[in-house]
Amino acid sequence: MEDSYRHRGMRKALVRIIKEKGIASPAVLAAIGKVARHHFFDNALVEHAYQDKAFPIGEGQTISQPYTVAFQTEKLEIQSGDKVLEVGTGSGYQATILMELGADVYTIEFNKPLYERTKKFLPKMGYTPKFFYGDGSKGLAAHAPYDKIIVTAGAPTVPTELIKQLNIGGILIIPVGDEKKQKMVKITKQSDKKIKKEAFDYFSFVPLLGEQGWKK
Ligand code: SAM
Repeated sequence: MEDSYRHRGMRKALVRIIKEKGIASPAVLAAIGKVARHHFFDNALVEHAYQDKAFPIGEGQTISQPYTVAFQTEKLEIQSGDKVLEVGTGSGYQATILMELGADVYTIEFNKPLYERTKKFLPKMGYTPKFFYGDGSKGLAAHAPYDKIIVTAGAPTVPTELIKQLNIGGILIIPVGDEKKQKMVKITKQSDKKIKKEAFDYFSFVPLLGEQGWKK
């Protein structure tokens, strides 16, 4: 897989754009600058890889916009060694960014062909998170608790099971709203009984399906 001078140049420009949009964490910007996003695209579509936009990856799903990936990642305040659950593996791009920050990533995908495809592809890029197939709207209880949980699909409400599966001091970042747009919500679990909830800008994600998501 080629990563040429030109690709690296386009990536640098993308990092500048994301920084201008408000991402300040040097570690997050470095991770975006490091991962070869064009490897997630067909050769004919490489020009799209370094634009700050979401892109279809088949199965009616998308690789999230780089700014969105950076925004969610920054809000998670990843420390090296954090055990992180990602709900919605998709292309695997978000998982690679988390791994660049030193996270131990558990990622779950509900779309079987996408799960199979990404599980095969990501190790070829040198990234081996722990892959799971299933309904991540209920989290992944078998491996809980987690230091951080990131949901990369739009939820109608915050699934209580996800808060349960967080360590004390843990952070959940999840887009919550209707099927068109969602507010980014950050939940910090301060104790078993107390959470702190913060809401940020609107984003637009594909829907979170499953028991705690949208019923289809
Ligand atoms: N994180 C991905 C990336 O880096 O490419 C982007 C994910 S895409 C915007 C949302 C993903 O969530 C889709 O692949 C979709 O199949 C998946 N999804 C939807 N509902 C889910 C659920 N209940 N459990 C796990 N994955 C789910």
